[in-house]
Amino acid sequence: MAALGSYLVARSAGGLWYLRMEDLDLPRVVPGIADDMLATLENLGFEWDGEVVYQSRRTDYYREAAEELIRRGLAYACGCTRSEIAQIASAPHEEGLVYPGLCRDGLAEGKVERALRVKVYDEVVSFDDGVMGRYSQHLTGSCGDFVIHRADGPYAYHLAVVVDDAAAGVNQVVRGADLLASTPRQIYLQRVFNYPTPAYYHLPLVTGPNGAKLSKRDNAVSLSAGRDLGQDGSALLVSALRFLGQAPPLSLKDATPSEVLAWGVANLDISAIPRTPAPFPEEETATG
Ligand SMILES: [Zn+2]
Repeated sequence: MAALGSYLVARSAGGLWYLRMEDLDLPRVVPGIADDMLATLENLGFEWDGEVVYQSRRTDYYREAAEELIRRGLAYACGCTRSEIAQIASAPHEEGLVYPGLCRDGLAEGKVERALRVKVYDEVVSFDDGVMGRYSQHLTGSCGDFVIHRADGPYAYHLAVVVDDAAAGVNQVVRGADLLASTPRQIYLQRVFNYPTPAYYHLPLVTGPNGAKLSKRDNAVSLSAGRDLGQDGSALLVSALRFLGQAPPLSLKDATPSEVLAWGVANLDISAIPRTPAPFPEEETATG
């Protein structure tokens, strides 16, 4: 869904459309999934600009950014375990535990570095999302000093996307609403690095048939999952357009996927995109 939404927003604004594989979480990335996704997108008529960017090959840039934060005194080593934080943190927030800043003044004796955290200050970060409207978050109250790198893991999504967006000159970000609540942290990092903040559009998530929340992976592959149901590419894109609140004519199902996309670009109405999650629409024999 994010692929379709971002394609429509970028192309309708006359912009370029880049593909980025967010494959930093290597142990959980299934081999071959990137190639499958690219093949699916190609079958559906998507054409992207430039080369596909793989975050797993850009670790050096994330390390540089993290080192800059350390040099500037904005990031510090944290030796807390999850259960230690849980004992002290105030009530868990939607984004997990609020880190109480225990290691801000240095690691306590006997502690080893488990994560690198960036300092946040007592301020509210607000932005106007192109779909969801005004969104505000008080960083110290909702997450506290947040992790940008784990000693035994990859660089955090927040740091990686901020570095990548700036490097590629991205000025529009279209993605699933599961990332809405993490956007203020990314905007905060953009300000710290003096990077421009792109325009954000967060799309409603696809739910299961009974409104059940799908896993991140289910959402990520929802387009190709739809194809497994036997729908052909054009019908699938028409359904996806309807999910995004657009009103494609039924006859478009007989067009090629590229023609469906062209209709979507020419007729995109961002204000019609719904804000609430919903199941993926069944094929219909008539449109309303
Ligand atoms: Zn700590």
